[in-house]
Amino acid sequence: MRHYKIEEIKTIRKIICNKCGKEIPMKGEIAQEDVLDVVKRWGYFSKRDNEVHKFDLCEQCYDELIATFQIPIEIE
Ligand SMILES: [Zn+2]
Repeated sequence: MRHYKIEEIKTIRKIICNKCGKEIPMKGEIAQEDVLDVVKRWGYFSKRDNEVHKFDLCEQCYDELIATFQIPIEIE
């Protein structure tokens, strides 16, 4: 006799840039362009205590975002 645990498996069907709405081309479950994938849980000392914010940015929108920074990003 076997007992099974039912698990939900999530697979990526589509990635859309939150800033410009561009759909990232996929081959199966593999994105054909890299994206910035952000997951941020806000802490107690924020106005968003314990909220989790998630978004994706395409590379072009990432470039536009970092171009607005006063201090350049670090690149290794
Ligand atoms: Zn974009």
